Amino acid sequence: SLQDGLSSAFKTLRGQGKLSESNMRDGLKMVERSLLEADVSYEVVQTFMKNVTEVAVGEKVLKSLNPGQQVVGVVHEELIALMGPVDNSLHLRGKDEVSVLMMCGLQGSGKTTTCGKLGRMLKLAGRRPLLVAADLQRPAAIDQLHVLGEQLEIPVYSDRAQKDPVAVCNAAVQQAKKLGADVVILDTAGRLHIDDELMGQLTRIDKKCNPHQVLLVVDAMTGQDAVNSAKAFNEALELDGVVMTKLDGDARGGAALSVKQVTGVPIKFMGTGEHLDALEEFHADRMAGRILGQGDILSLVERAQREFDQDESAKLESDLAKGEFTFDSFKTAMRQMKRLGPMRKIMGMLPGMGKMLDVMGDADPEEDMRRLFGIIDSMTPDERKKPKLIDQSRRRRIAEGSGVEPSEVNELVKQFDAMAQMMTGMAGKNPRERMAMVRE
Ligand code: GDP
Ligand code: MG
Repeated sequence: SLQDGLSSAFKTLRGQGKLSESNMRDGLKMVERSLLEADVSYEVVQTFMKNVTEVAVGEKVLKSLNPGQQVVGVVHEELIALMGPVDNSLHLRGKDEVSVLMMCGLQGSGKTTTCGKLGRMLKLAGRRPLLVAADLQRPAAIDQLHVLGEQLEIPVYSDRAQKDPVAVCNAAVQQAKKLGADVVILDTAGRLHIDDELMGQLTRIDKKCNPHQVLLVVDAMTGQDAVNSAKAFNEALELDGVVMTKLDGDARGGAALSVKQVTGVPIKFMGTGEHLDALEEFHADRMAGRILGQGDILSLVERAQREFDQDESAKLESDLAKGEFTFDSFKTAMRQMKRLGPMRKIMGMLPGMGKMLDVMGDADPEEDMRRLFGIIDSMTPDERKKPKLIDQSRRRRIAEGSGVEPSEVNELVKQFDAMAQMMTGMAGKNPRERMAMVRE
C-alpha cells in the first residue's frame, strides 16, 4: 500500500531532523502516482504536489511518527483543504414556502436515482417533496420516475402531452403548493455528451424556475470525463453543489478532488449504491483517506448502521439500553450484517469480532458464520440468554451438537462476553462515539 511504500522510502529519514525536498522525493513520487491512479487530473496533481512540498519541507520530523506517516499526514491535510470547505446543506426555505432543487448531469450519471434518494431523505426529514419528470428525451424516463415515486410514496409530477420541459418544470413549481409539496425536485434530461441544445434547455429551466439549488450529478467511475463535464455544466449554469455517484464501485474518488478544483463548487452528497437509501453526506476527510488508499471505514460503519433493518435494530437498541446482549441479539446483528457484502471486512470492524474470526481460521467468511450460528443453534434458549450457564458439560454437549471442538465453543463464549460488554456500552451513544470505542 501507499503507506507501506512510504514507510520504507522514509526509513532512512528518521533522525535527519527535517523533511527536505531531496529526502522526501521518493515518498512524494509515490503520493503522486497514487493520486493519478485515483483519477485525479494531471494539472491538479501537479499543483497539489507543489503545495505539499512547500508545506512539508521544513517540517520537523516528529519522533513519534515515522516520516512516511508524517508525509501522508501532510498530504492528507492538503487533500482535505482542497476538497473543503464542505457544505452539506441544501439551503432550503421554510416549510411554508416552496424550494426548488434542479438536478442536472450527463445521461446515466444517476440523476433520476439521486432525485429519488434526495426525495427519500427529505421526506425522512419531515419535508414534502415533489418529483418532476422533466426528462422528455425518452418516454421511459417519465415511467422510471413514477416507479421511484410509488416505491417511496412521494408524488410525481409529469405531463406526457407537454413537449417542452421548461413548461413542465414551471407548471410543477406553480402547482407545488396546491399539491401539498414544499420541495420540488426537477429531474432533467441528460446526454451522453455535452451539447448546446441540452445546455440551452437547462439554462431556460434555470431562468424560468429560479431553483434555490442547482446540483450537478457526476459519475465517479467516469474519472476525467466527470471533470470535463463538470466544467462545462458549471460554465452554463451556476452550480451550487455536486452529487458524486457510484462511489460504491471501484472508483477511488480522485474525481471528487478534481471536480471541486475545476468548479469551485462543494460536493454535498455521495451516492454509494443503487438502493434508494444509498446517499451519504460528503466528508472531505474520509474522501482524502480513500484517495490515499486508506479505506473508508467510517463510511462503511455508517452504511452498516443504516442498512440494519429498522425494527430489528430498534429492538437490539432497546435490549442494549437495558444492558441485555444475548446470543439471540448477536445472531440478529449478524443476520442484518450479512446483507452487506464483504463479511470479513465488516465483521472485523465489530468489537471482538476480529478475534472471533481468527479463532475460526481462514475459512470462507460465510462458512465462518454458518459455524458460529451452528454453535449458537445448539444452545438452549436459556443458554443463549445467559451464556454464564455454559459450563464444561454444556460446552461439550453444544460442541457435539454443532460438530466443533469444545474449545471453539469456549472461544465463542469468551469473545461474546467481550463483545457484549462493548455493545451494551455503546447503547445510547452516537455513531462517532461508537467509532471511538471501536478504535480503542
Ligand atoms: P440518469 O440517466 O442520470 O437519470 O441516471 P439513472 O438515475 O437512471 O442511473 C443510471 C444507472 O446508474 C442506474 O442503473 C442506477 O441504478 C445507477 N446508479 C445511480 N446511482 C448509483 C450509485 O450511487 N451507485 C451505483 N452502483 N449505481 C448507481
Ligand atoms: Mg434519468
